[in-house]
Amino acid sequence: MLHTLQACIFDMDGIIVDTAEAHYQSWKKIAYSWGFEFSRAANQPLKGASRMHSLELLLEMLGVEKTNAEKEVICALKNDYYLASISELTKADVLPGVLNLLQELRSQSIKTALGSASRNAKRILQILELDHLFDAQVDGNDVHEGKPNPEVFQLAAARLHIAPERCLVIEDAAKGITAAKRAGMHTVGVGNPEELKGADLVLSTLEDMPWKSICTLLDKEGTETQAEREKLH
Ligand SMILES: [Mg+2]
Repeated sequence: MLHTLQACIFDMDGIIVDTAEAHYQSWKKIAYSWGFEFSRAANQPLKGASRMHSLELLLEMLGVEKTNAEKEVICALKNDYYLASISELTKADVLPGVLNLLQELRSQSIKTALGSASRNAKRILQILELDHLFDAQVDGNDVHEGKPNPEVFQLAAARLHIAPERCLVIEDAAKGITAAKRAGMHTVGVGNPEELKGADLVLSTLEDMPWKSICTLLDKEGTETQAEREKLH
């Protein structure tokens, strides 16, 4: 594995930085302006959903009706709140282990890419001052379909000129793992092993996880899977 991987593609939200709080606070402001409280628990189903889908979930929850034109205006307002919130992000908000891993990959001439379906992902990389560490960047503005469609990762690999089977995707969401698998790539999930069972390897964090260790663990998982298969036959 160590010798075959030539690129590492990073999801943004939940891997490079956590913007869930910024999304939540933005929707909370909208709900509050209509006279409703909006709790973190109620926000759960909105996580990972597109802006319009999130709004529709919110309206349904609150029993509020809006016309399509009004929905567009609300989505734009929510994005304004969100952009104001993420503009306050700093390097200190980069999740543990990411910066070290990016620097290590570059020192070893492994290509790096952003593969996010978020429309604000490139802007966030600039705010975090990480954009110079990526050889290619693909965000929601570049693709027609979000994950689990493989388009985000396929485009990232194409821009890097690296074959999919030589790419590793790092993701925190099951939809993202599915997308990477559909693209024919190797996968590392970061988070809950139950939710990310489709991944080749699941880590609880990227902290203290050098590239070499990730490759060694991937190799080990691969060997074990192979052994399991042989046992079955
Ligand atoms: Mg994510």
